[in-house]
Amino acid sequence: MKKKEHISDSELEAYIIQTYYSGDSNKDDQDITIEEHLSECDTCAQKAHQIYQDMKTLSDWNVFTDNQILINVNVYKALETLEHQSTDAQVKGRLHRWIKDFKGLAGGSLKLMMDMYSQGKRKATRLMTEGLEKLNALNPIHFDYEVELAPSRNGKSEMVVNFNKIKSENTQTPLTVHLDKKRKDLRIQYEADETKDLPWVLLLPSKAPGSAQLKEPVYDQKKNRWEIVFTDIDEGEYILLFEPDYMM
Ligand SMILES: [Zn+2]
Repeated sequence: MKKKEHISDSELEAYIIQTYYSGDSNKDDQDITIEEHLSECDTCAQKAHQIYQDMKTLSDWNVFTDNQILINVNVYKALETLEHQSTDAQVKGRLHRWIKDFKGLAGGSLKLMMDMYSQGKRKATRLMTEGLEKLNALNPIHFDYEVELAPSRNGKSEMVVNFNKIKSENTQTPLTVHLDKKRKDLRIQYEADETKDLPWVLLLPSKAPGSAQLKEPVYDQKKNRWEIVFTDIDEGEYILLFEPDYMM
C-alpha cells in the first residue's frame, strides 16, 4: 500500500476494536494490510493512537460508578442464595466461611464488559482491574494487564495493554484471566500442581445478581494446571470475585 492511500477512520476504528477491544485475536488479510501501512505512515499511526486513547477513555468511564456498598450487598445475597441452594457439604462450607468470616468480601476482584456499548456507541469487550477495591478483604490478589505491541504516534510500535488478558502480580502461583468474545467465555488458570488448594470464583452479572455462578477450579492432568471456565457469557457487565484468604 502506498502512503497516499490512507486508511479511513472507520477502517482504523474497526481494526482497533478488533485488535484491542473485541477479545478476538485472529488477524485477517485486511488487518495485516493495515498493520503494514501503520508501520510506514506517521499520519495514520498517529490517528490510530488517538482513536485507541479515545476508546480507552470511553470504556474506562462506562461501567461501575455504582455504589460499592450496594454491590457488596448483592454479593452477600448471591452467596447466601448459593449456600441455601447447594446440597454439597463442601460447597456449603466454603460459602459459609466466605459469608461469616469475610462478609462477602473477596480475595481479589475484577470487572468485565461483554460486548457492551460505551456511551451509546462502539461495542467493547474487556476486563477491568480498577474500581472494586472496596469489595476486597485484606491482602487481596493484585492484577495487571498483559502488554502487546501496538502502533504509536511516531509510526513505530509501542507496548500497550491487552484489555482482555490479565495476570496476577502478587501471587506465587501464576494466575491468568482471559476473556474471549468470540468463544463467549472467561478462562481462569492457575499454574499449580494437583495438591494446591485454590480460590473458587464467583461471577456476578451486575444487572441480575440472582443468577450468580460459583465455580471451582478443575485440574487438567495434561497441562498440569487448574482451570475455571465460564461459558456462554451474555452481553452485559459483570463482576468477578475470588474467594478470600488463600495463600497462593
Ligand atoms: Zn496513511
